Amino acid sequence: MISSVIDVRDLHFSYCDVEAVRGITFTVSRGEILGFLGPNGAGKSTTIKVLTGQLSPGSGSVSILGKALARDDPEIQSRIGVCFEEKNLYNNMSARENLKFFAGLFGMKGYNPDALLRRVSLIEKADDRVSGYSKGMRQRLMIARAMVNDPDVLFLDEPTEGLDPVSSRSIRELILEQAQKGTAVLLTTHNMREADELSDRVAFICEGRIHVLDTPDNLKLKYGHRTARVKISEDGTVRQETISLDKSDAGDKLKKLVEHEGLLTIHTEEATLEDIFIRITGRGL
Ligand code: ADP
Repeated sequence: MISSVIDVRDLHFSYCDVEAVRGITFTVSRGEILGFLGPNGAGKSTTIKVLTGQLSPGSGSVSILGKALARDDPEIQSRIGVCFEEKNLYNNMSARENLKFFAGLFGMKGYNPDALLRRVSLIEKADDRVSGYSKGMRQRLMIARAMVNDPDVLFLDEPTEGLDPVSSRSIRELILEQAQKGTAVLLTTHNMREADELSDRVAFICEGRIHVLDTPDNLKLKYGHRTARVKISEDGTVRQETISLDKSDAGDKLKKLVEHEGLLTIHTEEATLEDIFIRITGRGL
């Protein structure tokens, strides 16, 4: 049994004079979702392209499912799923035909795509040409395509980019379901809510480097500030106080306000991953 499905050590990659990835190290285990969170140009897609064999690594080591990365290794390719913006669908085919075609590439003869089409809520449009699909439908089909071979490793580049909230939610549910089945998932996003909701661990990536890698909860505990906003009605006006819950006098201050007869509301807030990202990297998402 391999504990790390994806194992990357000190990976570097440059496009001529652009050093896109500058010594990245991380692992992803079976059933784990690792979120790569970072702004545009951080090196997220380049890392995935190296890991999926679209680019050759400059230096460092990459192993997938216990095997050193080799481009076009058919055994590894048959066990991974990739959803990438540039990877396209056949517009003149229906969703059903697309999935059957891609299953054929994996040698899956007589493949029935209906269960998968149902999971991505496309069963009713399964025989319509993809050219008439909305962006959300196409994206759901792209994810289905990446899952045709029931992969052990799934690479998803900005899986919900530009989608409406309903399509985004159904895609997130699908990703969580796939991880629960044991698939190791590496996804990139610059959406901190998505990273928070989906990832078991998050890597903050900026300028080709991982600045920190931990669970969202640990990051919030370690780097986040927790605050309470209290509204009080007094002498005909409403005033608001903000109390830092990380300070030692927080309890006394809160007690005083809670006992105030003009107490209106108390809201607690914890730091978002974006706040923490900015604190650690000095850059926004
Ligand atoms: P992200 O996915 O985080 O937005 P990328 O991996 O696409 O970041 O890009 C990392 C860096 O590499 C950026 O500086 C980007 O401009 C550069 N880059 C990406 N693709 C190419 C390419 N094909 N040729 C040259 N530079 C590139």
